[in-house]
Amino acid sequence: MGLEEKLPSGFALSTVEGLAGYMRKASLWPATFGLACCAIEMMSFGGPKYDSARFGMEVFRASPRQADLMIVAGRVSNKMAPVLRQIYDQMANPKWVIAMGVCASSGGMFNNYAIVQGVDHVVPVDIYLPGCPPRPEMLLDAILKLHDKIRHTPLGVDAVREEMRAEQLALAAPPTSANIGLLR
Ligand code: SF4
Repeated sequence: MGLEEKLPSGFALSTVEGLAGYMRKASLWPATFGLACCAIEMMSFGGPKYDSARFGMEVFRASPRQADLMIVAGRVSNKMAPVLRQIYDQMANPKWVIAMGVCASSGGMFNNYAIVQGVDHVVPVDIYLPGCPPRPEMLLDAILKLHDKIRHTPLGVDAVREEMRAEQLALAAPPTSANIGLLR
């Protein structure tokens, strides 16, 4: 029994946004970029056991110009922050970022002057992945959630409206320094 027998006859309707989102989510290419111990789990995600190739993303690109997904795998030092930003700026648009692990998401247990307290200070983050380190299964789950987000990304004026809404929310959010944690 082939796929043809499952499909209804006639024609199918969709939107340009739906079609673009479907193709984009199925062709993510991550930049080769690992900062600390979380990167080991990310490498394992690209190996044969977890097989990221199933999602059209088997090639981790060595050049940011050929990549549209940045997986920030590990803590970001202040020295590394401008390098990370430059790589992000050189990546093709549209692009997405996953903060992998507690260090990339919030600085984690490295509550000191050397470590950026969350990579969202440097680049916009689409998905925050908790854990220390997150297992490759968790990264797979984050990728699937990102797929869902990409599929529903608006285009044109809707995209501009969505960006403005996100910016307003970001401006209204309390500063990180006001988020008093256990270590402060
Ligand atoms: S979250 Fe844990 S495993 Fe990941 S970089 Fe930080 S200390 Fe290492």
